Amino acid sequence: MPVYAAGPGASSGRPLIRLDSNENPYGPSPRAVEAMWMALSSSNLYPDDNSADLRHQLAVHHGMPEDQILVTAGSTDMIAILCQTLLGPGRNAVTSERSFIVYPLAVRATGADLIQTPMREDSFDLEAILAAIDENTRLIFVANPNNPTGTILDSAAIDYFLSRVPDHVIVVLDEAYYEFAAHFAFLRGFMYSNSLDQVKRGAPVVVLRTFSKAHGLAGLRIGYGIGPADLFSYCVRMRHTYSVSSVAQAAALAAMRDQAHIDRAVTSNSQQSKILCDGLAELGMRVFPTSANFICCDVAEDAAAYTARLREYGISVRPLGFWGAPNSIRISIGTPEQNQALLAAAQKISNAR
Ligand code: PMP
Repeated sequence: MPVYAAGPGASSGRPLIRLDSNENPYGPSPRAVEAMWMALSSSNLYPDDNSADLRHQLAVHHGMPEDQILVTAGSTDMIAILCQTLLGPGRNAVTSERSFIVYPLAVRATGADLIQTPMREDSFDLEAILAAIDENTRLIFVANPNNPTGTILDSAAIDYFLSRVPDHVIVVLDEAYYEFAAHFAFLRGFMYSNSLDQVKRGAPVVVLRTFSKAHGLAGLRIGYGIGPADLFSYCVRMRHTYSVSSVAQAAALAAMRDQAHIDRAVTSNSQQSKILCDGLAELGMRVFPTSANFICCDVAEDAAAYTARLREYGISVRPLGFWGAPNSIRISIGTPEQNQALLAAAQKISNAR
């Protein structure tokens, strides 16, 4: 199993511009912070294990029955729970190469195999994924948009794909970057996702969403799955008791209600993505079109060395050698000031070449 190389983390001590973990640079909603303060005084009590209030609000928000929503300690927890529920030795899951690093970790921890198909034009090749399915396949992971490439599949491509997946396989549509992607799709005039309609019509699909990105609550660990009630009745048994803290539940409830805060992050992200992409392209780098809160770009040299040089300017980004892209880095889209600092550092590195 690969070892997950996490970012430097919130308490690394060194003042760094953190553009390495696709976090929300604007922080949590003030309303969420207030709700957390309120929840703290009840920290002597175990949390509601079913996240009933949050689940209810999510059900109303998405127009789904509550038994089709499972709240977990981040969407990565939901990924692990799905693997533990459906996989084991002799079974397999299918995804693309150069996708979210947690898929191999969670699949292999169950003793199952992960089949990773090649990419097509830096994006998931859904035909290759269909061709890789065998009788032992139980799960498919589609990160949409994909991390780390930032590439997106539109709803027509996903619908056609789902119509051809055999019945014994559950498709996980990982929409961790949903709010950013939906906004990009709106601006670009295409239909991003109707994944919830797929769940509503009974398709064997689990949609993943998280409070870590647009809601700015990554440090609290809270996300959820939306999927078939009968599958979730098994998944819930694999979830660790009390794994979603009361503070996280309170924060998520409040964050959901602060649409203005979400909108600000999403709008700034799309504006800043253009500034970053244009700036890096002017330096001669190949920049992948993004639909998320990060961009992937080819720096035309060893990415680890390039990352180390950016570090000297106090900026942390993610080199993608581990993903089989030794010349590529992933940069989270930050605040205007952070992005200007990144572009200034990239310019200096470029001048010194
Ligand atoms: N899915 C994808 C594709 C991601 O990039 C991430 C965040 N890095 C997640 C899921 C996990 O988010 P969380 O566990 O914080 O909800």
